[in-house]
Amino acid sequence: MQVSTKQVLLSVENLKKYFPLKIPWTQALLKRERPTVKAIDDISFNIKKGETLGLVGESGSGKTTTGRVIIRLIEPTSGRILFDKKDISKLSKENLRRARKDFQMIFQDPMASLNPYMRIGKTVSHPLEIHKIGTPAERKEKVLSLFEKVNLIPAKEFFNRFPRQLSGGQRQRVVIARAVVTNPKFIVADEATAMLDVSVRSQILKLMIDIKEDLGLTYLFITHDLASAKYICDRIAVMYLGKIVEIAKTSDLFKEPLHPYTRILMGAVPIPDPKLKRSKIIPKGEIPSPINVPSGCRFHTRCPYATKICSEEEPELVEHQGRLVACHLFDKK
Ligand code: SF4
Repeated sequence: MQVSTKQVLLSVENLKKYFPLKIPWTQALLKRERPTVKAIDDISFNIKKGETLGLVGESGSGKTTTGRVIIRLIEPTSGRILFDKKDISKLSKENLRRARKDFQMIFQDPMASLNPYMRIGKTVSHPLEIHKIGTPAERKEKVLSLFEKVNLIPAKEFFNRFPRQLSGGQRQRVVIARAVVTNPKFIVADEATAMLDVSVRSQILKLMIDIKEDLGLTYLFITHDLASAKYICDRIAVMYLGKIVEIAKTSDLFKEPLHPYTRILMGAVPIPDPKLKRSKIIPKGEIPSPINVPSGCRFHTRCPYATKICSEEEPELVEHQGRLVACHLFDKK
C-alpha cells in the first residue's frame, strides 16, 4: 500500500525502543547480558497530511511508547522519524524545543496533565509564552477564541477557572485547546477519550474531527477502543508486542480483518444488534512478556492458525488486497 511521498507528513522508519532492565550487581560482575523490554521492535509507517491514523492493540502492545517516541518525549533506541521530511529523531534539545510547536500531544488523563494551581486561561496561553508568540493581549485573545471553538462558553468566565472547577469533558476540551494553541501540524492523541463517559466521549471525538478540519491537522490516534477508532480514523495500524501486524483502511479492516490477531480484537467489539453474531476466535493463553518475545511470529503462542513455520520465521509486513499484513497465511513466499 504505497503512499505518495508528496502527501506524507510523518514517516517512521525501522523505529525501535528497548528499555534495559536492572540486574543484580553479582550478575553485572559476571557480565551477564542485561535483559531488555522490547517495547517497539522495528516498526515503519507513514501518515499523510490531513489523515487520522489509528494505533490499536492490547495494553502492553507498545502503542503509547510509539506515540511518545515519535514526539521525542522518550528517546528512540534506533530508527528515523521524518516529520515534514526532516529527521527529528536526532534534533538537539534546543532545535527540538523550537520544533515542538508543530507537534503536540493530548494525554489520557486531563486532570493529571493540567496544573491544578494554574487558571486554565494561563495554562492554555503558556505554550505561546514558551514559543514567544504574540503580545500578552494577543495571547489572551487567541485563548478566548479557542475556548469558543472548543465550546468552553462563556470563554471569559472559563479563562479564570481552575481545573477542579470543571467536569471531565470540559478538562479534556482545555487539553485540546492547549494542544492546538501554537497551530501545530500534527497531534498524537493517546487514549484521549478513555477516561470519559460514553456520551461525553462522542462529543469530544466530534470536537476532535471539527478541530482537525478547521485547522488542517493530522492525527495519530492511539486507543484500545475500536469503536472510537472506527469513528475517527481513516486508516488503522494494529500493534502486537511491539510490532505492527496489519495496516488497512478503517472500512476494510472492519469489513474483513485479515491478521488473526486483528480478527480477535474485532471479535471483542460489541455489535449493537442482538440478532447479529460475530464469529469469535479465541486466543490461547496470555500475552507473552516483552522481555521474552516468542521466536518467529510473536503471536504464534496464541494463534489458532499457527503452523511450524510460524515459530521459526518472522513474517514480514507485506501488501495483500490493498493493505499491509504480517502473517505467513498471506505471505506469497
Ligand atoms: Fe498466526 Fe502464523 Fe499468521 Fe502468526 S504467522 S498470525 S502464528 S498464522
